[in-house]
Parts: sequence; structure tokens; C-alpha cells
Amino acid sequence: MRTRTIVSLAAAAVLLFADPASAAATAAGSPGIGDAYYPTYGNGGYDVSHYDVRLKYQPATDRLEGTTTILATATQDLSRFDLDFALDVSEVLVDGRPAKFAATGEQELEITPAAPLAKGQRTTVVVRYAGTPSAVSRYGFTAWLRTPDGGVAAGEPEAAWWWFPSNDHPSDKATFDVSVLVPDGTQVISNGDLVSQSSKIGWTRWNWRQNKPQATYLATLAVGRFDITRSTSPGGIPVLNAYSRDLGDNDGAARASVERTGELADWLSGLFGPYAFGSVGGYVPNVRTGYALENQTRVFYSPRQFSRGSNTSVVVHELAHQWFGDTVSVRRWSEIWLNEGFATYAQWLWSEHEGEGTAQELADWVYSSHPADDPFWSVKPGDPGADHQFDGAVYDRGALALQALRTEVGDDAFFRILKGWPAEYRYGSATIADFRRFAEQVSGRPLGDLLQTWLYTPARPARGAVPSPAAPGARPAAGPAEPRSWAKIHAVQEH
Ligand SMILES: [Zn+2]
Repeated sequence: MRTRTIVSLAAAAVLLFADPASAAATAAGSPGIGDAYYPTYGNGGYDVSHYDVRLKYQPATDRLEGTTTILATATQDLSRFDLDFALDVSEVLVDGRPAKFAATGEQELEITPAAPLAKGQRTTVVVRYAGTPSAVSRYGFTAWLRTPDGGVAAGEPEAAWWWFPSNDHPSDKATFDVSVLVPDGTQVISNGDLVSQSSKIGWTRWNWRQNKPQATYLATLAVGRFDITRSTSPGGIPVLNAYSRDLGDNDGAARASVERTGELADWLSGLFGPYAFGSVGGYVPNVRTGYALENQTRVFYSPRQFSRGSNTSVVVHELAHQWFGDTVSVRRWSEIWLNEGFATYAQWLWSEHEGEGTAQELADWVYSSHPADDPFWSVKPGDPGADHQFDGAVYDRGALALQALRTEVGDDAFFRILKGWPAEYRYGSATIADFRRFAEQVSGRPLGDLLQTWLYTPARPARGAVPSPAAPGARPAAGPAEPRSWAKIHAVQEH
């Protein structure tokens, strides 16, 4: 949930001098929330606390229709505001009264309420809509994944536009109820707890609830024919996983990996502190994509992640995001290191735990694998740019930065930082500057130079944290050996 409010001098002047009853006293909310990487993503002028997404979906045709009810609070006087959405809208109500609306730009839904909203006013917005998500393209792509038996919404940074209208930015988190009506025999997977199911005249309604704040991109929906498994981890976390019944040769390896979710969530809890949500799990739909995504409480895995056998490393990566990315979300997309550097480092810790290479050995390997003139070093993990937001360097150099931090502050302070950070900003969003302040407070050391070197300098840092010798310009003939875990760690690098 967003707590930051910027009042410009110009806006303040309007508030001081304009007649408060006139339309001039209110302004349109901006079409973007102010993210330099994605200027139109999210919106200005309000903060959402809850989404109620109620859908009907026909897998045979990919036809989706529904109503989303949004609870929001105006953070400024508003004559008009935007939602982010891409399907066809038939009706909008604001506080029960019909509102004017228009689809503009790629994914803006401009809403003009019958009466302006006052700053601080709590409001209820109802949007009725329908569409065929797989047929809707924005910025040249479709985030909705059509499958032979349904569809899947899982994408970063955008996926919501294809199934519910939202303030689509991780700085405005909210709770969710997702209720979907599908033909009997079809399953619906979403975030949080499966609250209830009921069937009537050939259709089944699935009701899911996420009662902890969740970023919009971490909301997920999958409809298809799934086999659902339920258990409880030894540490007491309820686990719900789901597998497409159409995984073919990948079925065994997928289950052998994802069924370890409870065990791995418990292991990560020991490192990063108590798990912040009411359930955990993953799902593997029959999609052709190659990536995985850390949807809150319910990770999305592509079957291809398991095409070379089981892979607990990817499960560790996505579950680590439940702390780094989901419990604490990025305030802006430029802060992506807070997600990917830490999730990758969790894989290094798992490798060490499994005896397949220590974090230091992995750091040595990454460092020496990239000669000084490798473009790898030109990407700044702390501000990679929108085009390089998910570049391999954000992951690998991002994890190297954490190994450098560990070397600098020592294991005791380092692991107190990793465990304290998710608790410090639980259910909120944060920046790398926030992390620096927190890590300096825990360790009692200035860390500006170290983070500047590893996160914000477009060049290969001097060895420092990586003691193994590495010849400049080329991989040394006698450099470190490839750690056994490397292939599977590296294969994860798609979110
Ligand atoms: Zn990731």
C-alpha cells in the first residue's frame, strides 16, 4: 500500500487560492504512478486497499467476462482518475453512480465520476467487462498464456491488464478476493487460500482469498485441468500445489521439485524469518513458455523448467521471492536488485547446503566467467534500465554484490540483515536506499562505497570480495571450476 504522497507547489497553490467548490480545485489523476522505467504503469491520485475480482471463464473459447470491485482512497482531490486495463469495459460505477469512462493509450481506462472525489475520500469503483484475453495485444505482446484447456495470467511487470483493472504498480499493494466460475471438471488456481468451491448446473465457482497485501503483478490466475495436492509443511505452513494433467514427460520432474515446496519454505524461514503469508505453493500449467514467476503464495512454473529433470534450485529462487519481492516489494521497478539479487543468492545458499558449491565458489565462478570487457559488467544491477531489468547481470552480479556485502560485514551481521529486512518492510515496498540504511544500522558499518561499486558502477569491480585470482581480459586457464549447481542456478534466470 502506497504511503508516499507528493504535493507539488503548483498543486498546493491551487488548493490555497482556488474556490474549493469549483471544478478548478480538483485535477485529473496522472496516467502513471511516476515510475521512470514505465511512465504509464500505475496511476496517480488514489491508493487501492482491496480488489474483488469476480469472473466467468469459458476455456473452450477463452471468453472471459466479469466484474471487479475496487476499494480505494483518494490521495488528492480528483476530477478524474485512471485504471490500467486492456479488455472491453461496458460499465463503470463510482460509489454506486454511473461514471463516464474511456479507453486511452495502450492500457489506460480513464474514469470520470459523476461527482469529484475529495482527498481522503474512500470510494468504491465497480468495473464490468468482457473479452478474449489471448486476442488482446498491448505494446506488441500478450501476457495472457493460452493453453489447450484454458489460460494463465502470470507476467512481470505486467499481467493484470488481461484479467482485472487495477492500479498496476508494486508500490500500491492490496488484498484480493478472486472468484471464478468455470465449467465443471475445470480447476481454477489463484493466490492465497482456496476458501470454497460450489457447483451448480454444470458450472463450478472457485473462491480464492489473499488476505495479505499483494502487488498487482503478483496476482495470478490459471484455469485448466489441474491435479491439486495439499499438505502442511513440518513447520506448519499450509501447502497447495497444482499440476496440469497434460505435463507429459515433465510430470515426474515437476512434481519431484514442486512437492518439496513445504520443506524448502521451512528452510528459507530459518534464513529469512517467519513466512509472512497463510499458505504456500506452486502450479505448473501446460504452457510453452520457459520462465517461472514468484506469484505471491502460488509460484508459476513453466514445464520447461523441469525438462532436464528435477530442479529444486528454481523452487528455492521463487520461494525466496516470497520474502524478497512479495513480502517486501520494489517501490520502483529500478529497485529490481532487491528481488533478483536476493532470490539468486538464496540459490547459492541452497547450493552450499546441498554440497554442490559454496556461495564463495559461485561468486568466484561468476566473477571469473566474465572478462572485464564483457558487456555483463556494463549493466548496473542497482539501476539496470527498463531494457535490462531482467538481464543476467541483475541476477548474477546482484548475487555477487551480496557476497561482497557478506565479506564486508561478516556472517553474523549479514544473516541478521537478510532475516531482518523482510520484517522491517513487511507487506510494504522499499528502495535500495532503504536497504542501505537498514544494513548500515544492523552492521554498524558505512556501506555506500560497497553498494556504489557493486550496484551502480558500469564496470567490473576490483576483486575485493572474490579472492580467487582472475586474469584481466579473459577467463583464466586455471580459473575456478564450475560449481556443480551452476547449470540449474543459471537456468532459472527468467524471473
Ligand atoms: Zn527471480
